[in-house]
Amino acid sequence: MNRSEIKKLDEQDKLRTYKDEFYIKEGSYYMDGNSLGLLSKRAEKTVLTSLEDWKNHGIEGWMSGEQPWYYMSEKIGEMTAPLAGALSHEVINTGSITTNLHQLLATFYKPKGKRTKILADALNFPSDIYALQSQLSLHGYSPDEHLIQVGSSDGYTLNEGDIIEQMSEEVAVMLLPSVLYRSGQLLNIRKLTEAAHDYGIIVGFDLAHSIGALPHKLHDWNVDFAVWCTYKYLNSGPGGVGGLYVHEKHLGQKPGLAGWFSSRKDKQFDMDHHLTPAETAGAYQIGTPHILSSAPLLGSLEIFQEAGIDAIREKSLKLTKLMMNLIEEHLQGTFTIANPRKDESRGGHVSLIHPEAASICKALKSEGVIPDFRSPNVIRLAPVALYVSYEDTYEMVMILKEIMEQKKYKQFKNERDVIA
Ligand SMILES: *Cc1c(COP(=O)(O)O)cnc(C)c1O
Repeated sequence: MNRSEIKKLDEQDKLRTYKDEFYIKEGSYYMDGNSLGLLSKRAEKTVLTSLEDWKNHGIEGWMSGEQPWYYMSEKIGEMTAPLAGALSHEVINTGSITTNLHQLLATFYKPKGKRTKILADALNFPSDIYALQSQLSLHGYSPDEHLIQVGSSDGYTLNEGDIIEQMSEEVAVMLLPSVLYRSGQLLNIRKLTEAAHDYGIIVGFDLAHSIGALPHKLHDWNVDFAVWCTYKYLNSGPGGVGGLYVHEKHLGQKPGLAGWFSSRKDKQFDMDHHLTPAETAGAYQIGTPHILSSAPLLGSLEIFQEAGIDAIREKSLKLTKLMMNLIEEHLQGTFTIANPRKDESRGGHVSLIHPEAASICKALKSEGVIPDFRSPNVIRLAPVALYVSYEDTYEMVMILKEIMEQKKYKQFKNERDVIA
């Protein structure tokens, strides 16, 4: 495809106007929305409204502000539910992936008799694995014996059959990523959930790399619980408050880690020492919500409501496919593409393998492309549908082509920076 054909794709793109709603540095190509999404004008506005509410109402902001803080987590939960394919009361905005995992494991990991193990994979993000290990230790089980981590034959992707093979009546809980953070592989959530339920396993998914990038049907797929962050594809900003989902059938179950925000909202200020948990996913909150880090979501999620997650997914698949095609056309044999090719098993980013990935990322940054590097040899490029155009994707590949052909990356050290 040449540049003019690619420009046509942008002209026909129904989502193209959303790009103007985001702050994008002039002359830059932002391909890192899978680590930290960009700020939208609507998210900026809703944060400023919460600051105004504080300014104008002080403590009364909890109930009488323009965006009452007391109900904000529930409101955002309701707005996020369609993206998770959940009922409104199954979702709450709270915590981070890791703290929410601790909460839901404390609630749902109940080892009994021979059923003591946790099933996970060897490629998940370290924080998830640390949480699983520490929960096992808290129950007095050695992670070496009780954490099953399904391996990968190529080091980048998982075979669903291998995961199913490890399921047994000794497994209490399974936790998997929906989309793997390095390779961008999308697992078949429905199939894995069904298989695990056949063994009576409680199923949790980490949607870090899929929420806001592609649709889910957690409720219909019968997934027991899920966690996610919102600073990636949902554009809530650094430290933005995460989210969790608990299937309706489990609601009413006492939170493993209780706090006063686990309370039914009308009872919370009774200040009773006997907790009456909310009958919604709100029960899995713990303490006071981080209002200023939640408020951006009120604006940001409006964009998702308008644009529609199916349209976002459709464009995202076209963008990642275009990127891969251009890389194969212009940079033949230079990189190994680690992400799956099929639409149904590909998330929102392209994952390139190269032994000098760290220095190539530095060269890209020096030319205005923001990629991200994952140790030891992965370059992740996320053309986010809401603010990356087809032409941006083309330009980015052309910049990469020049860097590789002229070996510009050789001027940089092939080592990761402190944050990468
Ligand atoms: C981004 C990410 C995290 C980060 O966890 P936080 O608790 O939000 O800091 C955890 N797990 C996965 C899979 C991630 O992609």
